[in-house]
Amino acid sequence: MKGDGGVYYAEIIARLIEELNRLPGVGPKTAQRLAFHLLRRPYEEVRRLAEAMVKAREGVRRCSQCCNLTDIDPCRICRDERRDRSLICVLEGPADVVAVEKTREYRGLYHVLHGSLSPVDGVGPDDLCIKELLERVGRGGVREVVLATNPDVKGEATALYLARLLKPLGVVATRLARGLPVGGDLEYADEVTLARALEFRREV
Ligand SMILES: [Zn+2]
Repeated sequence: MKGDGGVYYAEIIARLIEELNRLPGVGPKTAQRLAFHLLRRPYEEVRRLAEAMVKAREGVRRCSQCCNLTDIDPCRICRDERRDRSLICVLEGPADVVAVEKTREYRGLYHVLHGSLSPVDGVGPDDLCIKELLERVGRGGVREVVLATNPDVKGEATALYLARLLKPLGVVATRLARGLPVGGDLEYADEVTLARALEFRREV
């Protein structure tokens, strides 16, 4: 790997930069900065970071009911008896669950798709947790499914696709009210806006 001034990194540093560069939002320059930062830190600190990453990756799996990431199965939310089991909020990612939980307005359960439909990127229904959702709804007891995918083209297409599959199962499919920034990610919406979009959801 070549540095900016045509200087080659030690192979071992080049590898670190390459790995950091794979992370979302981390370009080559940031990867280089992070690598040199890590190499300046005390050995113990870097070891703790590496261990935390490996331990989290090893200990976390998908909940067998809602597909959200968890260390226990079923996850804490699915286990919570105080939650309304007739209501499921469908979200694209685990970060969206955190965003909706922060509103403190929602008392139902969740279902995490782990993405949105995107034929151009080769992401089809089988790549998402859709089968698990349909099986779950098919087992009965669900009254409403809130399709809270992101308000962008892929999110809308995914919501419409799911609504078509869910309606024959006898549940009400709803979509978040307008008002969320179009094209934005749910996880970046502020709590008040998200709470209102949930409250004024409409049937699709
Ligand atoms: Zn769960």
